[in-house]
Amino acid sequence: MKSHYRVVVIGGGVVGSSVLYHLAKFGWSDVCLIERSVLTAGSSWHAAGGFHALNADPNIAALQAYTIDLLSEIEKESGKSVGMHMTGGLTLAGTPDRWEWLQSAYRIFQSIGIEDVRLVTPEEAGELCPVMSTDGILGGMWADREGYIDTTGTVHAYAGAAKINGAEVIEHNRVLELHQTSEGWDVITEKGKVSCEHVVNAGGLWAKQVGRMAGIELPVSPLAHHYLLTESIPEVAALDKELPLVVDLEGFTYMRQDQQGMLLGIYEINHQHWMMDGAPWDYGIELLEEDIGRIENELTLGFERYPVLQEAGVKNWVNGAFTFSPDGNPLVGPVPGKRGYWSACAVMAGFLQGGGVGKSLAEWMIHGEPEADVYGMDVARYGDYAANKRYIKETTGQFYTRRFVMTYPNEQLPAGRPLKKAPAHSDMSAAGCYWGASWDLEVPLYFAPAGFEETPSLKRSNAFDLVAEECRAVREGVGLLDISGFSRFEVTGPNAEAWLDRIMAGRLPAPGRARLAPMLSPEGRLKGDLTLFNWGDGSWWIMGSYYLRAWHMRWFNDHLDDGVVIRDLGEDTAGFSLAGPKSRDVIVKLTDGAVGELPFMGCGDFDIGLLRCRVGRLSVAGELGYEIHCRMGDHIELRRLLLEAGAEQGIREYGFNALLSLRLEKSFGIWSAEFTQGYTPGMTGMDRWIAWDKGDFVGRDAALAERDGDGAAQLLVTLEIDALDADASGFEPIWSGDRRVGFVTSGGYGHTTGKSLAMALVDRELAAEGTELTVHVVGVERPAKVITPSPSDPDGQAMRG
Ligand SMILES: Cc1cc2nc3c(=O)[nH]c(=O)nc-3n(C[C@H](O)[C@H](O)[C@H](O)COP(=O)(O)OP(=O)(O)OC[C@H]3O[C@@H](n4cnc5c(N)ncnc54)[C@H](O)[C@@H]3O)c2cc1C
Repeated sequence: MKSHYRVVVIGGGVVGSSVLYHLAKFGWSDVCLIERSVLTAGSSWHAAGGFHALNADPNIAALQAYTIDLLSEIEKESGKSVGMHMTGGLTLAGTPDRWEWLQSAYRIFQSIGIEDVRLVTPEEAGELCPVMSTDGILGGMWADREGYIDTTGTVHAYAGAAKINGAEVIEHNRVLELHQTSEGWDVITEKGKVSCEHVVNAGGLWAKQVGRMAGIELPVSPLAHHYLLTESIPEVAALDKELPLVVDLEGFTYMRQDQQGMLLGIYEINHQHWMMDGAPWDYGIELLEEDIGRIENELTLGFERYPVLQEAGVKNWVNGAFTFSPDGNPLVGPVPGKRGYWSACAVMAGFLQGGGVGKSLAEWMIHGEPEADVYGMDVARYGDYAANKRYIKETTGQFYTRRFVMTYPNEQLPAGRPLKKAPAHSDMSAAGCYWGASWDLEVPLYFAPAGFEETPSLKRSNAFDLVAEECRAVREGVGLLDISGFSRFEVTGPNAEAWLDRIMAGRLPAPGRARLAPMLSPEGRLKGDLTLFNWGDGSWWIMGSYYLRAWHMRWFNDHLDDGVVIRDLGEDTAGFSLAGPKSRDVIVKLTDGAVGELPFMGCGDFDIGLLRCRVGRLSVAGELGYEIHCRMGDHIELRRLLLEAGAEQGIREYGFNALLSLRLEKSFGIWSAEFTQGYTPGMTGMDRWIAWDKGDFVGRDAALAERDGDGAAQLLVTLEIDALDADASGFEPIWSGDRRVGFVTSGGYGHTTGKSLAMALVDRELAAEGTELTVHVVGVERPAKVITPSPSDPDGQAMRG
């Protein structure tokens, strides 16, 4: 062990080894991995070693596909066997909804270019897995590139290939303490002190403690998990080819062949956390006692699905622990506020995801950004609220229990909620508000009469008519929306203006004005679809998506200049948006200031009743509208004032479901759908807002290269879909004849235009208005047409009015 390395990776499980491999492979060879015991000594040695293609987040599914391809690469590079069994895999659907969902999932694979997947009938599924009963199966999805590997061999292959590329592996050396220094970190280990520029927490079952060594509370917890291995089974031994990996979603089990027997793994509905503060330091290569009572129901289902198990002897029970984040996806990337501390934790399926995690993290460390859009596993998708132990327990438990349970897009899950409520929450609930969650905050979805219950559905839900009424109220009269769920950052200081000019790609607004503000990465990809307010008193606001608060703050802090102070106002500020042709009539009643004369995109400080508020004249609904920001403590009174003043105009409260429909009718893109860090300004039309003639700004060279080059291969368009009883939601493939030419970024029903709409990225030559295409909507192919953007009020008269 040397006294200094560029990077110290803590943890020699599959994830740490993959990070080490990718760092060395990409050229950082002055790196070491420090392991408490021996490689694989955490969760990795006792994993079932299965890998399969499905993930609800298409970006993560793509990284899983990368990992699968990588396994044979590292075997070649290291000369160490990964014990590859590429058997192919089946995912089974046992209810009509699940079958529809699986058909949609299959289309999403097509969208992201994973082609070696196909749908199969129950009969075909039975032929592919002859020891399986197909009772109750409605269909399945077959993937060629699924199977299992030898877990210990795989970790050694990653580490071996890393060593060949110059990295060092140090075993039997526990990291005891971490101390931040001006150059990076001092890592205190059992064998002495090592200094480094970067540390990577790949501590797996001990990630919590390795976080705490640096004062970080990661939202991660281990949970226990069972599988059993059988003795040899004659029916299996007699087969002329290996059984496929089978995931029986309605049965809560996965299965693969193990030698001449079978391995049956169980996602326990009755989940059990284990050592929430991290495993004991002396926890060896050992297992937990099996708890068969806890898994009886799932076992019964498994034995019914594979009748041969009923006669088979159980050779071994494995009950081991592995780690989960609140949404089940990894926690990867630079930890906000801890320069040089990187997380590679909570990787629930390390053999499936470890390659993608290692690749993305190494790119991030070396180049400043990962190549893929990895927001779905970015550690900064959570804020400080997620450090709460009960929050972690409820959310990780919910994820685990629901791992194989169908979740509908309109379903609101209860774990970790309600957490933060804007002050008017109770009054809004009394008015019939139904709530969703954005980050830590309860946000209004729609308002319904007492006793209403929304039915979970993949298609249009029974809340459809309620949302339609809210949309009409906004377009024809005036609607009131709680916008506490927008993010607000205040920027002040002598260099505030110069800094904003550098990090935003657009022109800065004049005093008393607001402007849309694209923010780019140095590689010219989108980092924000923000709105910038110049309040005219030396203070500026950046507004964006609430759930990106920590993610954006990390970016701002990482790019901050001297003489600039940035403050997240999310805990201090709330607000309401008034939108609709009658909104001016309402707001003018509440102020003697000139709020009624505010021009479109104007902003300023006004009296609203007895309150002092910041007001901007804009609305995401694309109507005449005002966003009114108040102190958190004024939220109840602001709502009361606005509702009272609007009574004469028939004001109606609405929620974000209506807003999503209204903005779609205006072809206004939103983050995580039309805009992501995987896309560029040229693709998304964000280039309209770039001030090409201003000085330098972050991402300028790359954006210019895109503009002056061949242009983006795909462009953002608006589609009208000839839909039946369901609308597109996102990532559905789009076809021109037999050719896949794009995918949906988001979709929904335009309630005031009466059209099923979608926004989509399609090949440039097919982006012209009138182009006829087809789109899959919940597994069914429907005709669609490229239409003029903003089917509602295309000239923008309403919002400018
Ligand atoms: C029963 C079971 C079945 C599973 N089946 C599958 C499957 O089929 N497919 C799949 O992809 N995944 C599966 N998993 C999950 C998989 O095991 C994990 O995702 C994976 O092992 C996580 O790897 P890791 O490197 O993050 O953590 P770990 O394997 O826990 O490695 C962390 C390492 O860090 C070391 N360490 C921690 N703290 C320190 C310190 N202070 N100093 C030095 N070293 C330290 C530990 O000793 C350990 O070796 C399964 C898990 C279980 C329990």
